[in-house]
Amino acid sequence: MSDMQNNNDAQNQSIREIRINPIVPSESVLVATARGMRPKKKEERIERDTRKHVETCPFCRGNESMTPPALVTVPNETQWDIRIVENLFAILGDDEKKSNLVMGLQQTIDGYGRHEVIIDHSEHGIAVFDMSSEHIANVFKAYRDRMLALYEADDRIRYVLVFKNFGPAAGASIPHTHSQLIAMPVIPENVHSELHHSEKYYDKHHQCIFCGLIDEALTFEATIYDRDSGEVRRKVDIGQYIIESTEHFIAIKPFASRYEWEVHIFPLKHQADFIDCSDELIADFAGLLKRTMKRLDNVLEGVQYNYFMHTVPHGKEFKNNQNSYHWHLEITPRTSIPTGFELGSGLFVNTISPEDAARQLREVDI
Ligand SMILES: [Zn+2]
Ligand SMILES: [Zn+2]
Ligand SMILES: [Zn+2]
Repeated sequence: MSDMQNNNDAQNQSIREIRINPIVPSESVLVATARGMRPKKKEERIERDTRKHVETCPFCRGNESMTPPALVTVPNETQWDIRIVENLFAILGDDEKKSNLVMGLQQTIDGYGRHEVIIDHSEHGIAVFDMSSEHIANVFKAYRDRMLALYEADDRIRYVLVFKNFGPAAGASIPHTHSQLIAMPVIPENVHSELHHSEKYYDKHHQCIFCGLIDEALTFEATIYDRDSGEVRRKVDIGQYIIESTEHFIAIKPFASRYEWEVHIFPLKHQADFIDCSDELIADFAGLLKRTMKRLDNVLEGVQYNYFMHTVPHGKEFKNNQNSYHWHLEITPRTSIPTGFELGSGLFVNTISPEDAARQLREVDI
């Protein structure tokens, strides 16, 4: 392992550059791989709870009375594999609509919305890569169907965010494997930036920037030119960012990754809205997600992570984004704690080159 590490360090010694996120140019990352350039503190890992069943856990089978009644159960109420309930500690509530407040330059929007918990599996501590592909597909179908139901039930809902926190390092407060869904009255800033910039790109180039990046990853070798002299600085094999591609999906290590082991999964064929994703596509996606999580777990020797879904919001004002936006799942494993430099500057420091991270993930024998 240490030989490999030395080898990798030697390969990447020269990397110390600021990479601009091609989709959201205001987000940039400092890739600095030399040993002396590692200001980051490794996150101290609290081991996660891997037990199969816990008597006192409200999400374990048999303890259904400890949660609010189920909104959805798959395949049925008693022998459920997946169960969706309202979150008892909701971030956003279902209250009467109050008027929005403005105090000078500061304003608030009423925290109206819904917050639900998807109990991903009846087995307490199971990891995604240990679930069957069929089961993972059912979880994502449950996300899709629930998102649609929420949009249809209330036109004040502007965005439904689906995310998962896995392990204490990723902020999971209940160890039983679960994900969450928050239906919000606003578009989250990250999604808004992606929508805005991809629309601008589309207006100029008549192409979806996400499709463009996928095409590049599959076909091109890119040349990086020096800004001032225009001379060729380096040729990059863009394919080196691919971790795996399937018939319908691709897992990519973003060129300007904020987090060392961040991976994004995109449908290969343009699709703006996750709600349009067919059962057949989801089945393919599930297999790729399972393998991607296995790769991450293998390289990181136990992965704790967040994942979240970015998809086009519903509503007339987003009609234009059907061509320019492209849904995706972002997976961000947690390995280090952001420093004051990162929080203060907004410039994230990545101490493993995305090329090297992609190679390590690709090479996992699965
Ligand atoms: Zn449990
Ligand atoms: Zn696209
Ligand atoms: Zn995104």
